[in-house]
Order: sequence, then structure tokens, then C-alpha cells
Amino acid sequence: MTVVTRFPPSPTGFMHIGTARTALFNWLYAKHNGGKMLFRIEDTDRKRHSEEAVEALIRSMEWLELDWNGDIVSQFASQARHVEVAQELLEKGEAYKCFCTPEELDEMRTKTKAEGKPTFYDRRWRDSDATPPEGVEPVIRIKAPLEGSNTVADQVQDDVTIQSEQLDDFIILRSDGSPTYMLAVVVDDHDMGVTHVIRGDDHLNNTFRQNVIYDAMGWDKPQYAHIPLILGPDGSKMSKRHGAASVEEYRDTGYLPEAVLNYILRLGWSHGDDEIIPRDKAIEWFDFKGIGKAAARFDFDKLENLNAHYINEADPQRLIDLCLPFYQQRHDIIPDEQAQKRIMQSADELKSRAKTLLQFTDESAFYAKTVPFNYDEKAAGLLDQNILSALQTALSNLNDFTSENIQSTCKDIADEKMDGKLGKVAMPLRAALTGTTVSPSIFHAAEILGKAETSARIQAAIDHA
Ligand code: GLU
Repeated sequence: MTVVTRFPPSPTGFMHIGTARTALFNWLYAKHNGGKMLFRIEDTDRKRHSEEAVEALIRSMEWLELDWNGDIVSQFASQARHVEVAQELLEKGEAYKCFCTPEELDEMRTKTKAEGKPTFYDRRWRDSDATPPEGVEPVIRIKAPLEGSNTVADQVQDDVTIQSEQLDDFIILRSDGSPTYMLAVVVDDHDMGVTHVIRGDDHLNNTFRQNVIYDAMGWDKPQYAHIPLILGPDGSKMSKRHGAASVEEYRDTGYLPEAVLNYILRLGWSHGDDEIIPRDKAIEWFDFKGIGKAAARFDFDKLENLNAHYINEADPQRLIDLCLPFYQQRHDIIPDEQAQKRIMQSADELKSRAKTLLQFTDESAFYAKTVPFNYDEKAAGLLDQNILSALQTALSNLNDFTSENIQSTCKDIADEKMDGKLGKVAMPLRAALTGTTVSPSIFHAAEILGKAETSARIQAAIDHA
């Protein structure tokens, strides 16, 4: 049997981080088993539908490098097929038309609520031969089992059982002729040959209902794996309120896709004590056994640590390329070839410091600046004229402009003017060369900038005062 999983998001406007994890688990399960993952957009809610939301999902999948097999399928496009199945169920006697008016339904709701019943519809049209009322367009309801119990054999939660009284004769076709989600999802999964449904455990209740349709049609059910939801750090369901609930926010705040993937993989799945799990290992190791039964809390620090790890591992030119939009947005500069060469020379240090690409950008943007440039407030306060002049003279006399020689020159000035405190010289130098107070080793940075550029920047800082 070829494993066929599916990723069926509803286009809500952005890709929630939990949705990304569902996609990842489906993708990994398919890859691990040499199977396929299909991509279906659940776009039957036409009022809320927008192409932009679909594009955000596709962009997020592409950014995470999660691919799928075949074309993206639109659920809405198969409406005729959903209606056909509803009619078939009707003909088989597995479903029936219900002519209840909204008032009648309201009455039933009030009554059953008072009685504390789990479902409200009293099935009055289920076996009725009454004459349908005039002017009421019927809905089609499925006949749910009246007795006994229903079990979902779940790969994560094990057997989950409910009594049939928990199930109602739910609607499969609305009075306007449109199929409900419950029907559409079953028909699509069946027609697409889906063998494994891996989704959030908030869908477990739907599964019992969907199984009623599978049974009524005599179709084989897929295997189910319901995965616990992701909680925010405070233990409530992860939402926008916690910040960065959407995949693209991670991209836009300097996270690498491999770090996000590694993090969401570990959030709900484990393989011994392994924390760093690159994509190829994830494919090799992924299984249902490793999925935890309890909801996991999002931990931004852990994600940041993983991001730092993957930045440190990454090819520097790739990092620079990824940072290009950030240099522009945050510093209004586009590093030219020379600047990029300088950043490359400093890459090891930048990579080992950066927790995010924003930090990488901010700590290397100075390489791309040209004099005169602005100083941030703290840096402006450090432009000690006395020191800067001494630096200008001493450094221009330096023949071999290396990091070690620059440092010992600074040390000499510190001994002479600042009681040997190297920081009192290094800080003004950093302020002059970078316009900021945070950077990798300033002696190394000066070497990379070279003697002429270093001198020009010190002079601009002198002139600035
Ligand atoms: N469209 C549903 C959602 O986004 C997924 C349904 C399913 O996995 O069956 O929650």
C-alpha cells in the first residue's frame, strides 16, 4: 500500500504555526514511507475565501521547503461530486431530507439544552412519511447510529470511544444545495485515495461524524493520527496574541526555515534526547510512536537557540542573500560587492553571535556604510575626540594593518591616556567605525575595512563632533 497523506488547510489569511506542524508531520510521514502528500485547499466557505490567503499558504510551504505531489486541489471545485454522494446516500436510505424550519430547530435547541442532552435535533424527519411543508427547502441529514458505541483507533491517542447518543444526524447538504465540510472532506479524502489523516486533535469530534459517512458509503476509512495542539508559553491555545503565530512572521523576523522546522518537529514529537534534527534525519526517524499525547507549550528561547545553531551552520553567502531585504528595510542600504566581501570575511564571527538574521544584519550593516553616516545616540556619546585623534595618528602610521597590530596600537593609547583600559579606546573606535555600540571584534573589523576606510571613518567621527 502506498501511503497517501494530505495537507488540507482552510485559507484563513496566513499559515498558523500549528498548521505548519501538521503539514510537516504529513510530509514526513509520506517521505518516511516513500508515499505522497497531497495539498488540498478547503475553500468551500466562499464568503471568507480569498486568493491572497491561498497564496500565503503556498508561500509558507515553499519557504519551509515542504513539497507536495500533484497539483493543488480546490475543494470547492469538487462540489458537484459532493452533491452526487449526498444524493447517493439519500437513495441508499442512509440519509434523509429534513424540512424543519429555523423556528422548530430553535425550539428543539432550547428544549434539549434544558434537558442537558448532548445533541439537539430530535430526528423527526428520519423515518417520517409526513407530507413536506410548502416553501421549505430541505437539508439532507445523515442517519447516525442510534445505539452502541463508536471507536476511533487512533495512532496517537490509541482507541477513543464515544456512545452513539453523542452523535447527531448532522447535515451533509445545506438547503441551498451546498455540501457541508463534514461531507466534502470525506468524499475528497476517499476520492484522492488518502490512507492516513494526520491532523490536530481538535478534529477528533469530527472524525466520529466523518466515520458515519464512510460507513454509510461502505468506504474504507483512513488511519487517523490526531496530534495535540500547540499551546502558547502561558498554556492557552497558541494565537496571534502570543506573537509570531504565523509562519511568515518567522521569516520576517530572521528565522531560518530549517530552525523553524526543527523546532516544530520537536514540539510534539521526540526521538530519544535528540534536539538538533536536520531534515534528512527527521525523514529517517519520523514515526507515530514519537508523537506525544499531551499538548506542548511553545518556547521562544528554544526556537531562538535552534536558530542560532542553524545560522552558525549555514553557508555565509546564503545568509547574506537572506539578509538583503533586512539591510534595506532596517538600514536603508544595499550591500555592494565590496561590502559583501567584507561581510564574508567577518562571517564566522557574525554567525557565531547571531541568534536571528536581524542580529546578523544589524551587526554587519556597518560594512556597507559610506562616510559620513549617522551615529546612534549611544555611539555619538562615545566619540571622544582626544582618543579619536590619537587613533587617527597611530593607526595611519601602522604598516601592517592586522587585527593584532591594531589591537596593540589601541593598547598603547590606552596605557598612555586611559590607565591601560583598552575598552576606553576600543569603544570610541567601534563607535567611529560602525556608528553603533554593538559589533564583532572591532580590531578585526578595522582590518577588514582596511587602513584607508578606517582612517576615513575616524576622520568623519572627528569632523562630526
Ligand atoms: N481544513 C481543516 C483545517 O484547516 C483541516 C481538516 C482536516 O484535516 O480534515 O483545520
